[in-house]
This record gives sequence, C-alpha cells and structure tokens, in this order.
Amino acid sequence: MFDYLIVGAGFAGSILAERLAARSDAKVLVMDKRNHIAGNAYDFYDDAGVLVHKYGPHIFHTNSEKVFEYLSRFTEWRPYEHRVQASVDGQLVPMPINTDTLNKLYGMNLTCQEAEGFLASVAEPRAEIKTSEDAVVSRVGRDLYEKFFRNYTRKQWALDPSELDAAVAARVPARTSKDDRYFTDKLQAMPLNGYTRMFERMLDHPNIRIMLNTTYREVEQEVQFKELIFTGPIDEYFEYCYGRLPYRSLHFKHQTFDRELYQPAAVVNYPNEHAYTRVTEFKYLTGQEHPKTSVVFEYPRAEGDPYYPIPQPQNAELYARYKALGDALPNVHFAGRLATYRYYNMDQVVAQALMLADRLTARNPGTSPLASVHPPSATREEGRTNGSKLNGTATA
Ligand code: FAD
Ligand code: UDP
Repeated sequence: MFDYLIVGAGFAGSILAERLAARSDAKVLVMDKRNHIAGNAYDFYDDAGVLVHKYGPHIFHTNSEKVFEYLSRFTEWRPYEHRVQASVDGQLVPMPINTDTLNKLYGMNLTCQEAEGFLASVAEPRAEIKTSEDAVVSRVGRDLYEKFFRNYTRKQWALDPSELDAAVAARVPARTSKDDRYFTDKLQAMPLNGYTRMFERMLDHPNIRIMLNTTYREVEQEVQFKELIFTGPIDEYFEYCYGRLPYRSLHFKHQTFDRELYQPAAVVNYPNEHAYTRVTEFKYLTGQEHPKTSVVFEYPRAEGDPYYPIPQPQNAELYARYKALGDALPNVHFAGRLATYRYYNMDQVVAQALMLADRLTARNPGTSPLASVHPPSATREEGRTNGSKLNGTATA
C-alpha cells in the first residue's frame, strides 16, 4: 500500500514525491508513461555525445530564492544568461526588442532615451489590453508587431495574436535599455550536470519507487494507494467528460552537425521564414566543449504530446469546470502545467508543487482514509486484471 500514487515524473510529480517522502516519511510510487523521469525537462547525451534537451530548450530562471534554494539541494549550477536573436528582414537582431534591435533594424543611432520616444511615437494606444495583439501593438506599434510577433504567434499557436490572452506575448516585453538577455530574473542558471541528473538525485530516496512506461489507466485498479497526485492533463483524468481542453504540441527535429558551432546565438527565432519557430544550439546552454554540435528545430503542431495550454478565455472557463470536479475529490490533487492548465515556467511549477507539499505534509499522513479517488465515469472499463507493468519496477 502506497501513501501516494504520483502520476508524472516531471517537476511537479518529482518534487511532490521528494517532499512527501522526506518530510512525512510517506511511501510514494511515481509513475510516468514515458521511458524516463524529468518530464519535459529531460536531457540526455545524444549519439554524438552532446548533451541535448529532448523536448526543446529548458533554461532555468527565477526570482524566487526559495525555489532556487530547494533545487540547489539536488544540483550545482552553471551561471548562464540566455540570449536570443530573431531573423528579421534578412538580418539577426536581439530579441526581446531593445534599443540595439531598433537601431540595427531601421539603420538608426538612437540612445536608450530616444528609443523610448521612438516607441511612444509608433505605439498605438489601446483603451484595454486584452489580447496579445493589444499588448504588443500598444507598446511597439504595428510594424514591429508584424515583423516580430504576428507570424511567429500564428505559427506557434495556429491563432492570430488577437485571439490569445495578452499574457502570451507579454512574456517577451520590449525594452529600451541595451539589455539583450531573454530573461531578467535575478537568478539564472543551468543545472551543472543537467536536469536528468538533478531529478535522479531528487528521487533517490528509500521511500520512493519509480515505474516507467506505464499510463495511469493501466494501473489505477491494481496499485493500492491512499491518495493520488495527478500531473497529466486534467481533462484526460476526467475522461474528457466536458470535452477536450486544447493543448498545443511541437515536433522536435534534432540534428547534429560536424562542426564546432552552427549559429551565432543559443537560440535564433524565425518569425517569418520556415515552418519551424526557432533553432536552439545546446552547447551555448550547457557550456559543453565538443568538436560537433547539436541543435533542435521546433515545428508547432496540433496533434501530439500536449506541451502548451492555450491561454484563451473559453479555455480558462472549461478548465474551471474540470477544476471544480477535482476540488470535489479530497484525496486527489492536481499539480503542474498540464493538470492546472497554466502556461507555467519551471520555477512556477516548483513553487506550486512546494506549496501543495506543504499543505499535504501539514496533515497527518497516518490518518488519511482509504477513500475512492476514481472519478465517476460511465465509460471507464472496469475490472481489468492484466496489463500491469509493475513487475520488477515496484511493488505495491
Ligand atoms: P511535465 O514536465 O509535462 O510532466 C508531466 C509528466 O506526466 C510527463 O512526463 C508525462 O509523460 C506524464 N504523464 C502525463 N499523463 C500521464 C498518464 N496518464 N500516465 C502516466 N504519465 C503521465 N520552462 C522554463 O522555466 N524555462 C524554459 O526555458 C522552458 N522551455 C520550455 C520549452 C518547451 C518547448 C516547453 C514545452 C516547455 C518549456 N518550459 C520551460 C516549461 C517547462 O517544461 C514546464 O514548466 C515543466 O516542465 C512542467 O513540469 P510538469 O511536471 O508540470 O509537467
Ligand atoms: N513570440 C513572438 N515572437 C518571438 C518570440 C515570442 O511572437 O520572437 C510570442 C509567441 O506568441 C510566443 C510567446 O511570445 O508563443 C511566448 O514566447 P516564449 O519565448 O516565452 O515561448 P516559449 O519559450 O514558452 O515557447
């Protein structure tokens, strides 16, 4: 009998496992349908021996000392500040838009103060900032919006910026300093030996068992547990009873080149050309020295693993209906980017998981009732006795 079954071995699931095992002495089974831990942050050495991120570039940045201190128990860090160039009008310019971007793009020689005046002169004021189009056009005007944001967003989301919440494009705000870092958080670093190593250390506890290559549905009837923590898509948990929550997916095309470097920056964004949105060269992120180099091209698509919740009002409403179902199940807890349908960065997921862990450890785990955690369902296949992949990897 496990105290907790945790579905998903990404940031949310692994942190909850670690906290519950370490603080409440709880017996925890963490499972994942993939063949590895670390969720979307998973990294590995490719055939050429270059450390790459399987699911696209993951750069750690946070303003939370608490989050950084917690993760520092499981990894040392490599100082790293991320920089991105955008390919626009045949040249590479700094992204987010800054004074140097404006000068290079328009052949000007503005000071930072003059750049502020320039943006004010081209900005189109909007009474209300509701959509990503509002957010960008009201700050940098239509030309820069069209050059940097409109087509990238259409490619990434298959939606016009006018159909997406303002918060999406507001992740990359224009500035008039010469700061060309992608993030301005006070703590920015990469795990020294990679994310996967950090997760291995996090999950290395005698009370934690790990079961991979297995979906929750395959074992829900067979593993005995008191409480469930679910970090997959919340609509999947409830068997899509209110319809599907939309998620955006990506195809990652990894490629290795037999040369030292492929491009002049860690990431190059392609708002207007190509079917892919951006190209990441991992050696910039990891600091690895290697005669070859590996990159990943990101091709947005509708089908495939769910990577991005889609921030639109109607999706927030649908999520709220699923959340209400979840709130009615006292022994089921939802955490992470997919289960709480939030466009969260890693540090936000860490903070959310630590908060839930605090809440759960504040209760006495020994008194948790063995209650049903299964959602009511007319369609779920009952009484399956086979299909378990528990053998050898964990025991209930
Ligand atoms: P995940 O990492 O998605 O983990 C959930 C796990 O649950 C998965 O491993 C999945 O296989 C498993 N699972 C789901 N359903 C089931 C089921 N039914 N049965 C069994 N297992 C199941 N954040 C940053 O801070 N910086 C970045 O630079 C950054 N870059 C990103 C780039 C891309 C392309 C993407 C997609 C995300 C990026 N993020 C970045 C966000 C970051 O990936 C997430 O915030 C974080 O990984 C979310 O952790 P999680 O545990 O919520 O979810
Ligand atoms: N964006 C854009 N052009 C860019 C970079 C970003 O239009 O060159 C918009 C786009 O809608 C994107 C969003 O800003 O989805 C957030 O960008 P971010 O780089 O934060 O995306 P993520 O790393 O989460 O994929």
